[in-house]
Amino acid sequence: SSSKHSYNYSSFREDEISVHGLSDKIVGVLGGGQLGQMLCQAASQMGIKVMVLDPLENCPASALAYNHVVGRFDDSVAVEAFAKRCGVLTIEIEHVDVATLEKLEQQGVDCQPKASTIRIIQDKYLQKVHFSQHAIPMPEFREIDGDDSATKAGDLFGYPLMIKSKRLAYDGRGNAVAHSKEEVSSCVDALGGYAHGLYVEKWAPFVKELAVIVARGRDGSLSCYPVVETIHKDNICHIVKAPAEVSWKIKELATEVAQKAVRSLEGAGVFAVELFLTKDEQILLNEVAPRPHNSGHQTIECCYTSQYEQHLRAVLGLPLGNPSMKTPAAIMYNLLGEEEGERGFALAHQLIGRALSIPGASVHWYNKPEMRKQRKMGHITIVGPTTAIVENNLNSLLSKEVETSD
Ligand code: ATP
Ligand code: MG
Ligand code: MG
Repeated sequence: SSSKHSYNYSSFREDEISVHGLSDKIVGVLGGGQLGQMLCQAASQMGIKVMVLDPLENCPASALAYNHVVGRFDDSVAVEAFAKRCGVLTIEIEHVDVATLEKLEQQGVDCQPKASTIRIIQDKYLQKVHFSQHAIPMPEFREIDGDDSATKAGDLFGYPLMIKSKRLAYDGRGNAVAHSKEEVSSCVDALGGYAHGLYVEKWAPFVKELAVIVARGRDGSLSCYPVVETIHKDNICHIVKAPAEVSWKIKELATEVAQKAVRSLEGAGVFAVELFLTKDEQILLNEVAPRPHNSGHQTIECCYTSQYEQHLRAVLGLPLGNPSMKTPAAIMYNLLGEEEGERGFALAHQLIGRALSIPGASVHWYNKPEMRKQRKMGHITIVGPTTAIVENNLNSLLSKEVETSD
């Protein structure tokens, strides 16, 4: 045995391990949820080592990560110690301690995408200001800090009025719809009051929601996934259809807007751009996620290179893969918690069990330790030769009577 391959534990540094694969860099991921889990799956296939930082001992990524550091990604000490063990630092959630990332970048830590991007994105109001400065089309918006400015915004934009939290928003938690002037104060209360940091958006009368995942390599090159349609239920992404059934012209416009949005941000990685398609064929930006995203889960089965592999390639400076579809159609169905506890698990397990008999269906289960209502517990992707067939297969999966046994 060669002494080259032995190391001294007292001076052990993960970034000095010699890896004879695609990259000798350890990819550090802030967050270890399902997106982190799927990043680890893609990494494992390519022999890339991923370390995750997540406070939950049994977070979805923990079983698959090369190393799981138990700690908070919004904690400065934890993030700093973690970053120093990684060759490149990235995220699977944007609600991280960005001030620490900025400081670390100054010290030469490689963050992809850049901390500046995460700072802009993690505050949805700041994000809107940023994109409006870059002339990206989007619904009108306005900061509100009290009843006066809220009433004024309601008069200006009309009702329904979308009221949003600036920070820590996900899965619609942080959104409230006021249908009239009278409902504004209860919405504001539900979101934690004005002091929490709120803004409003004009209601977007969309006919469809679309999403485009744009990958950017370290050399600045962009590569776009086919436009998909996303269908939300109670503000939560529920179904994704790939490709979107819209005209070639709309696909081109959506891709253009998405690319323009991503060009205004710094750093490598995949970026998911959520869009509204209006009746008069306008494309408006909803928001951007600077990381792999729910609207790209199906890329695992339906694209030559999944968004997860693409993200790893991008942050590591490897050539980007082919984002185009290798199956003509795909549909992704999120398994959202229907009930708390064991009964919720039983319902979900019946569905994933039945999915095994559906042609072209793949089951993903995130192993979240607790079942909560509306929580994303897993997803099912169905691929097939046509949109009609994958939709039919999903319908037959969902329409079967759920057997209950209590
Ligand atoms: P995510 O989990 O995607 O991060 P989020 O909590 O950040 O979600 P948004 O993307 O702001 O929430 O909104 C969730 C959904 O609410 C949108 O996908 C859309 O269906 C609806 N929505 C948001 N903004 C508007 C708007 N201005 N007009 C109409 N509907 C809207
Ligand atoms: Mg969001
Ligand atoms: Mg969203």
